[in-house]
Amino acid sequence: MVDFNDTPEQAAWRAEVTAFVEEHLPDDLAEDQEFAGTLGGMHRGPLGKQRAERMKEWRQAILDRGWIAPAWPKAYGGAEMTAIEQFILREVFTEMRAPIQSVHDVGSTILVHGSEEQKQKYLPPMVRGEIQWCQGYSEPGSGSDLASVQTRGERDGDDFVINGQKIWTSGAKTADMIFALVRTDPEAPKHRGISYLLFEMDKPGISVRPLGQMTGASQFNEVFFEDVRVPVSAAVGEINRGWYVGATHLDFERSSIGSAVGFQNRLNDLIEFVTTEAEADTGRSRLKREPAFRDQLADRATETTVARQFSNRIITMQARGIIPNTESSAQKLFSSELHQRTSNTAIKALGLYGMLYDEDGPYTPQRARWGTYYLATVSETIGAGTSEIQRNVIATRGLGLPRG
Ligand SMILES: Cc1cc2nc3c(=O)[nH]c(=O)nc-3n(C[C@H](O)[C@H](O)[C@H](O)COP(=O)(O)OP(=O)(O)OC[C@H]3O[C@@H](n4cnc5c(N)ncnc54)[C@H](O)[C@@H]3O)c2cc1C
Repeated sequence: MVDFNDTPEQAAWRAEVTAFVEEHLPDDLAEDQEFAGTLGGMHRGPLGKQRAERMKEWRQAILDRGWIAPAWPKAYGGAEMTAIEQFILREVFTEMRAPIQSVHDVGSTILVHGSEEQKQKYLPPMVRGEIQWCQGYSEPGSGSDLASVQTRGERDGDDFVINGQKIWTSGAKTADMIFALVRTDPEAPKHRGISYLLFEMDKPGISVRPLGQMTGASQFNEVFFEDVRVPVSAAVGEINRGWYVGATHLDFERSSIGSAVGFQNRLNDLIEFVTTEAEADTGRSRLKREPAFRDQLADRATETTVARQFSNRIITMQARGIIPNTESSAQKLFSSELHQRTSNTAIKALGLYGMLYDEDGPYTPQRARWGTYYLATVSETIGAGTSEIQRNVIATRGLGLPRG
């Protein structure tokens, strides 16, 4: 029989983490986090100075315990937790609305494919929050068909000389380092001539141009490379075999997208809003009795439970040392589409008030939380591989169907 309950050891660990959060998390950080989950990445409501200070203390408390990259070896700043312990840690944090501090997935990729020198050089400073990374995969002509990347790295002695362009590079404006897919053998078949390179963003020849978004933020950028010299030692794994390193990264990225507990929090908040505040704020007192709307909430609640089972599946695979592949695609597909459906349900709950976007406006419910959420979730079925691509992965690698 499948038993999702904690073992006595897991329950003790859960209690320890809970006690830690109760002791160390300042109340206002928890409150803010309720909105940060929605506004995260949207750069609205800049952190107050005081809050930033408390965030620093919170981060330090986690860092001291090695809980930033809990499953990494202690030698690189981790705590050598099992995948299940890490999962419980993050579950408790999310349930208690404590800000999770973690490392970029590139770290886990370096841990799998990198040399000892690369691990020593990059992992401990990542844990300490000293290096910000950006992901140089997509190009104007290469998104879903990522293996067609055209950015070239020509060998010149011990260097590659890089020319080309990346696009949709999140955070490139402020990043210290980039991990990029670069074509280093133009003669080879397309999957076999790519290297996965790590290099500094302040190198001569790199320029960054921000792109505006409909939310008002400009999180994305174009990145241009003009005769950028990068040592061949910057390659993670074998030169010209970077496609497979990049694919490992995508598996990590897809499996970590969307916390099922976070979904549950958000749904609970929506239900609470509909049954309490919505009446006062928007006069939509009938809503909780409207059959069509109740049906939607029931569907979202069922789907949120399914999302939790996806998490359980992924975590039990990771606990056995397996990097989930088609399972990550299924989780990414389901979670991102569920997020959109939930935000859609929320907007329906608000009616016309859902369109108010001024977070300090007198008629804006819950500081525009749900409208912002609605806009933010639009991109979720595109980033880290579109829904169509996830379905292709499931059909070919998961079900063994021929390529379409
Ligand atoms: C929030 C967000 C953050 C991002 N951050 C980064 C980043 O940091 N670094 C980075 O490199 N990229 C980033 N991206 C880019 C992202 O990876 C690409 O947008 C994505 O891979 C799709 O590529 P594309 O935009 O070129 O669309 P295209 O590949 O041109 O696709 C257009 C449409 O055609 C469909 N399609 C394409 N091929 C197929 C097929 N074989 N079968 C069925 N349908 C198909 C797609 O599903 C899509 O609907 C980000 C995107 C978003 C939304």
